[in-house]
Amino acid sequence: MSEQCAVKKVTEITTEEVERIKEWINTEEYKEKNMAREGLVINPAHACQPLGAQLVAHGFEGTLPFVHGSQGCASYYRSAFNRHFREPAPAVSDAMTEDGAVFGGQNNLFEGLENAYTLYHPKMIAVFTSCMPEVIGDDLTAFIQNARNEGHIPADFPVPYANTPSFNGTHIHGYDPMLKSILNTLGGDKKVEGKDNGSLNLIPGFDACTGNYREYKRYMKAFDIPCTLMADISDSFDSPLTGTYNPYPGGTPLEDAADALNAHATIALQQYSTKETMKWFSANTDAPVETLPMPIGVKKTDELLMKISELFDKPVPQELIDERGRAVDAMTDAHQYLHNKKFAIYGDPDWLLGVVSFLLEMGARPYHILCSRSNKKFKKTMQELLDTSPYGADCNIWINKDLWHLRSLCATDPVDALIGDAHGKFITRDLGIPLIRAGFPIMDRVNLHRYPTIGYQGAINLLTWIANTFLDQVDVTCEDRNFEMMR
Ligand code: SF4
Repeated sequence: MSEQCAVKKVTEITTEEVERIKEWINTEEYKEKNMAREGLVINPAHACQPLGAQLVAHGFEGTLPFVHGSQGCASYYRSAFNRHFREPAPAVSDAMTEDGAVFGGQNNLFEGLENAYTLYHPKMIAVFTSCMPEVIGDDLTAFIQNARNEGHIPADFPVPYANTPSFNGTHIHGYDPMLKSILNTLGGDKKVEGKDNGSLNLIPGFDACTGNYREYKRYMKAFDIPCTLMADISDSFDSPLTGTYNPYPGGTPLEDAADALNAHATIALQQYSTKETMKWFSANTDAPVETLPMPIGVKKTDELLMKISELFDKPVPQELIDERGRAVDAMTDAHQYLHNKKFAIYGDPDWLLGVVSFLLEMGARPYHILCSRSNKKFKKTMQELLDTSPYGADCNIWINKDLWHLRSLCATDPVDALIGDAHGKFITRDLGIPLIRAGFPIMDRVNLHRYPTIGYQGAINLLTWIANTFLDQVDVTCEDRNFEMMR
């Protein structure tokens, strides 16, 4: 570009000033100012409510997720799943624009439902909202009933729906009402007094690791107990490449979901993302309804297997006992690489409780624990977990803080590694702290969602990634005289 056409900068920032600020944002002084920040969020460790609702919808047989609201929002959820799973995420939107915002989105919903039903032949359409219809107060109950009355969809076609206002909560708060609505729509009136279909309803909660769903199914097969795994996305987002496109691979069979209230027992594996759904179960069935922690690490996996064993009066299968032994052996082999190492961890509350439990088992220190939307109850529960181990002493729990806060914390009070989703890579780049990728979303590495992080195999995977990250670091940074074949 010639001198004449160069854009004249309004404010000239010198190289020296840039360098000064770069250093200043790593200081205690900046941290104090940053930690006092409340009105602005920078790089939050969560997504918005409808994304959680959409994940649930993908997990049911023949189900088309339907966004009542803005096209751009719908593109965001789809692209987040595309990038994380590297798979299509077929979903539709009724594309509300300015006139919808002024007059309400009923006409958009009518047209959208009719087109979606006619063109894409789903067995169920799961409707949820973006911010815009929530702000103007669209009445989904009335709109969907009107759509039936006016013949846009058949009277008996299942259209569960959830209000998912994103200015409140996160993706886990959208997951819960969508799951409850699907189960209520399919089977809310199908409870038969005295019936026990002998199966277990297993509810993983918000989990974007397809390997975890396969692991749950493998456990239940080993127990030889029939299981309805709710919102099962293992095939939806990890289907075989055959050359023929199927928009609805896998998912929880609708018939099984419809019989959920007649199950022998129900277990949820996350408490924060399944609260309303579990209340619904408790109110509608006399069968046992249990909420357990996410089974990350040996202790939490033991709790799940013991509970299944107790509820179904069956011993834990020998193959799972052997697998536990192999996990303990792998942990013993690798413990010296994790012992007393400090970690910063960020993500969803249930996932954090699982990873912290696993780190404490390994003698590691979960030093900064950050949940970008949570409450005092979570903080108390996390503190109780930390108090169970000497490695939990002096660790810090940060709620309602974002990853720019975490950057300040890591700059002034460093850790050995970060554990969390891909958004933490900015901290890695700035501060040189390695990131072990786990959680959602992971858009810059391949195939990690295929590796389980729950159960005994999950514990082996996690500790392998963590220990090898430290060993890679030693090989790259050690002096020549310490460069060894063996570590
Ligand atoms: S926060 Fe609201 S506006 Fe933003 S993507 Fe989510 S639903 Fe759309």
